[in-house]
Amino acid sequence: MSSSFPSAPVDALPVVVIAGRPNVGKSTIFNRLVGRRQALVADTPGVTRDRKEGQAIVRGRAIRIIDTAGLEEAAPDTLYGRMRASSESAVAGADLVLFCIDARSGITPADQHFANWLRRQGRPVLLIANKAEGRQGAAAAMEAFSLGLGTPLAMSAEHGEGVADLMSEIVDRLPPTDLPPVKKVTRRSRREDALAEGEEEDVRPPGPLRLAIVGRPNAGKSTLLNRLLGEERMITGPEPGLTRDSIAVMLHDDEGPIQLVDTAGLRRKARIDETLEKMSVSASIEALKMAEVVILVLDATLGVHEQDLQIARLIEREGRCCVLALNKWDAVEDRAVTRQAIKDRIETSLAQMRGIPVVSFSAMTGAGINRLLPTVRRAYEVWNRRVPTGALNRWFEMMVERHPPPLVDGRRLKLRYITQAKSRPPTFILFGTRTDQLPEDYQRYLVNGMRETFDLPGTPIRLLLRASS
Ligand code: GDP
Ligand code: GDP
Repeated sequence: MSSSFPSAPVDALPVVVIAGRPNVGKSTIFNRLVGRRQALVADTPGVTRDRKEGQAIVRGRAIRIIDTAGLEEAAPDTLYGRMRASSESAVAGADLVLFCIDARSGITPADQHFANWLRRQGRPVLLIANKAEGRQGAAAAMEAFSLGLGTPLAMSAEHGEGVADLMSEIVDRLPPTDLPPVKKVTRRSRREDALAEGEEEDVRPPGPLRLAIVGRPNAGKSTLLNRLLGEERMITGPEPGLTRDSIAVMLHDDEGPIQLVDTAGLRRKARIDETLEKMSVSASIEALKMAEVVILVLDATLGVHEQDLQIARLIEREGRCCVLALNKWDAVEDRAVTRQAIKDRIETSLAQMRGIPVVSFSAMTGAGINRLLPTVRRAYEVWNRRVPTGALNRWFEMMVERHPPPLVDGRRLKLRYITQAKSRPPTFILFGTRTDQLPEDYQRYLVNGMRETFDLPGTPIRLLLRASS
């Protein structure tokens, strides 16, 4: 920061607003940016007492900084309401919002709520994970990926760590200016890790769980659908916004609504008989994309067919969660043997979905069908699960100690820490040196261990490798 402000009217300066729930360190960040100038604020006419405002020169650019801390007290109602009320007008006028969370306490429902609101405001946001001092702090900060606001900037306002990065990030996001020349700042390579930017949102969308029923022709999908509808007293009807010949079918179980997607895919096949085999895969792809959970229906009397595995791999590749339905159970002679044979085949052929939930029933008679939707709900929970960064890294250290990564060209790979970047499906980032050379079997070792330790059966798990210095 330089010592003099350019003689531009205050109103012409870009406005940076610091927002977040109480106690995350907003004021501390404000003080880091504004420094001793904060004292000037109280003397500035027109500045209301409860809005802390200052000016700073960051990398040669003058900016106005508004700290929303303290405004919470003024507004009524809940914490959410207070955060909102205090920030609404400030955010509306912001050129950039610094949204702060406390990396040590992790993401709270209030953070989540506020982030969702903030995303809808359409203002540029820089996500800050404050109180991220030290190595563990940086790992904890990565949890903030899940807010869907881009890559979090890990810093410690109190300890002065990451303040230089913060300034670069702010300047990079400001609108262009015709005020005095700005010296170009080169960004750091650490920021190259922009995984979350532009990625799918991690936040569970409101509304019904979206379910697809897929499988080979004659597995019993239509019979299953009718069975579910008959038992669940459905609401059906054409719904705008879906594909043209698709019908929205809504089921209701104890936990709420479930929407069956792409039932058109089921009906379509009835019209064209010759190309059934090919169609079942392509129709599955369409259904998959719209679904969160997929029921893969097998005719249990026929065992596992290569095409069943093909569809299962598609489900895995699309990152959806899958429930394996063994239909026509009424017609199966030796149930124990059949069940085991199918499970073995699935486990060996679909290692990526180890622990996949299996339900056997008869869609025709209805026997065993009552277990299906509860299993769908459980699979959905797993798919949405978040593993706390602390527990994850304690486990990770144990795994690395038990089995250090192999030498590559005579040098040891260094694995530093791991963090869950998102769920739906659970996605983890492993940081270390030369991670691009980490052998596949070592990655499997970690993924399988993670499944067991953190109870993540059946869901696809993504492990992304990132080089860190
Ligand atoms: P605000 O009310 O959200 O603006 O938060 P404050 O700036 O008042 O900070 C709340 C508390 O967190 C204070 O006790 C600060 O000293 C502390 N704090 C702020 N930044 C950090 C940090 O980077 N690390 C740690 N450990 N504590 C911090
Ligand atoms: P889809 O092509 O997957 O939609 O399969 P359908 O629902 O049309 O069923 C194909 C055939 O399997 C039909 O003749 C059904 O009556 C029969 N089927 C479906 N479910 C069962 C079941 O649970 N047990 C028996 N034995 N037959 C079934």
